[in-house]
Amino acid sequence: VVDVYASPVFRGEEQVGTIFVHRDITKQYEIDEMKTELVSTVSHELRTPLSSVLGFAELLLEKELSPERQKKYIQTIYKEANRLTNLINAFLDLQKMESGTLKYQKEAVYLVDILKDVIDVFKLSHPDHEFILLKEDLGKVYGDKEKLTQLYMNFVSNAVKFSPNGGRIQLSVTKEENQLITKIMDEGIGIPEKDIPKLFNKFYRVDNSATRKIGGTGLGLAIAKEIIMAHEGMLVVESKIGEGSTFLIRFPVWEEELVQDNKVKN
Ligand code: ADP
Repeated sequence: VVDVYASPVFRGEEQVGTIFVHRDITKQYEIDEMKTELVSTVSHELRTPLSSVLGFAELLLEKELSPERQKKYIQTIYKEANRLTNLINAFLDLQKMESGTLKYQKEAVYLVDILKDVIDVFKLSHPDHEFILLKEDLGKVYGDKEKLTQLYMNFVSNAVKFSPNGGRIQLSVTKEENQLITKIMDEGIGIPEKDIPKLFNKFYRVDNSATRKIGGTGLGLAIAKEIIMAHEGMLVVESKIGEGSTFLIRFPVWEEELVQDNKVKN
């Protein structure tokens, strides 16, 4: 994309030439395009729950309603306001991660402890699912405990959400050379192959009726990707429609000497 600016050159009253200035504004153009796309996606995502809140509030104000109906509408308002809060928080988190302004508080942590805590949270609220933890390795990684917990919460919450008929959700930790491998496996609806490369894009959701019915922000996996990258991790997704999905994450094993070296250097 080129921006051309023309300026006439005069000698006395007479125009003797024109100076053309060409500027390559491709980069600026791309940034503007990205901003426009982001603003329209965000405003759409915010507008949907907001219009629902406004609509139900209006009904409550204007109509004579039975107490049961009132309660139902208030519950909807509460649910939608909650969805808005989660969306805004997730979006702000992601912005901070992407711009590098989020500070990670890293220490040596046992991955298996994090997985145990995450499973405990979901076990209570999802009695229809069976949760299994295979802890073959008790190794540590060098990471931010809170962010790693958020990472596994995102994966397990998807595993639960996208297994609407219940089923088994299996988490495991194993070791391969100097890598710790964690897996989250579900027996849910699965992911079409063509969607797998796009899953980690902001706001990306598989476009089918099952996903639409289940709901979500489309930010969970984009946040997961940022957290994995900040911990020098790697990720592999495998899935079969109707059979389930597996998310595999590798992190380097924490080696005490490495951290000691860094401390001396800093
Ligand atoms: P959402 O808030 O929609 O769950 P995510 O970023 O966490 O957003 O996930 C993006 C999309 O990836 C989901 O909308 C869904 O289509 C797909 N997805 C993620 N995890 C799973 C899973 N375990 N099983 C099936 N589909 C999944």
